[in-house]
Amino acid sequence: MKVRGYAALKAKAPLTSWEFERRELGAHDVALDISYAGICHSDIHQAREEWGPAIFPMVPGHEIAGVVTSVGAKVSKFKVGDKIGVGVFVDSCRNCQACKDGLQQYCVEGMTGTYNQLERDGKTPAMGGYSNVFVINEDYAVTIPNNLPMEGVAPLLCAGITLYSPLKNWKAGPGKKVGVMGLGGLGHMGVKFAHALGAEVTVFSHSESKRADALAMGTDHFVVTKDPANLTPLKSSFDLILNTVSAELDINLYLDLIKLDGTLVVIGLPGKPYAVEAGGLLAKRRSLAGSMIGGIPQLQEMLNFCGEKNIVSDVEVIKADYINKAYDRTVASDVKYRFVIDASTF
Ligand code: NAP
Ligand code: ZN
Ligand code: ZN
Repeated sequence: MKVRGYAALKAKAPLTSWEFERRELGAHDVALDISYAGICHSDIHQAREEWGPAIFPMVPGHEIAGVVTSVGAKVSKFKVGDKIGVGVFVDSCRNCQACKDGLQQYCVEGMTGTYNQLERDGKTPAMGGYSNVFVINEDYAVTIPNNLPMEGVAPLLCAGITLYSPLKNWKAGPGKKVGVMGLGGLGHMGVKFAHALGAEVTVFSHSESKRADALAMGTDHFVVTKDPANLTPLKSSFDLILNTVSAELDINLYLDLIKLDGTLVVIGLPGKPYAVEAGGLLAKRRSLAGSMIGGIPQLQEMLNFCGEKNIVSDVEVIKADYINKAYDRTVASDVKYRFVIDASTF
């Protein structure tokens, strides 16, 4: 079927209006009219080839919230009119242990990304959510709670789950000191979830101007990182720090803040390696870990949690023709706190 969207036609090119084909509905597929698509910093990294060679034309977008318009003959999970979400992957092998455990993002064959990847047929380039219509296998979509506004939900499909998952995995909760580095799209969801889970939350930000917002979101302490001396009194005091910063930084400054047996989780993906001082790691038996989005069962769990606690992303809704400006503003850390595209403007 013919659909409309926005694409980068080549690396680093500005995104432009583009018509393309999506597959017709298979027996297990659902079609959705996209309501909103979030702009993740990963979209920018990939459209600008900051992670290495990419596939063009590229329709980015892996934070997709929409409404089901038709269902394939064998679909049992959804019906027309349901509000559903699609995140960072659209398929996986379904047979490996990770897939069986609902950790499709760690599929041994590799998850099939929502864009910038070939579908499992090995030849069709996957096209993402900056578009008016999407087609998805029902097993890789999730139900959006009815009480939540769709524009605030879209970013949950990547930014939300990417912070929810490590907070659950490393058991953030009452009595735990949790740090969030970078108050952007991911970071602000980390603050909301860590606060809702009962942890004591500290934001590390290089933007003093975000202090009041951070406190309103549930942050207990706001530390401005432009002066590293601000970190010194916090040495060895955190159970868990989540690094969502999209740019290069000295990771050792933050490793030093982890207490005995605590963990620093790398989430941001600047594209260049970190230099880690061995002494800082072994001094307090610290762990340096990584975490990538979350699987389908946890994605649904996170959305249900958001429905119960009324948690959504803080968004700035834009029209399609503002995408390039939104990219530049995101890179300049000038976003409160996620740009979301109104899909009726494609
Ligand atoms: P974002 O909205 O741009 O937020 C990144 C934040 O990092 C900024 O708001 C800023 O926060 C801080 N920052 C940016 N440049 C900085 C600099 N030069 N020095 C210090 N701090 C800086 O990006 P996002 O969408 O949240 O994504 C963050 C990163 O996570 C990206 O690299 C993205 O690719 C990656 N990601 C990973 C996963 C995963 O599964 N692990 C999933 C999605 C995205 P302050 O202004 O508060 O300092
Ligand atoms: Zn993302
Ligand atoms: Zn698999």
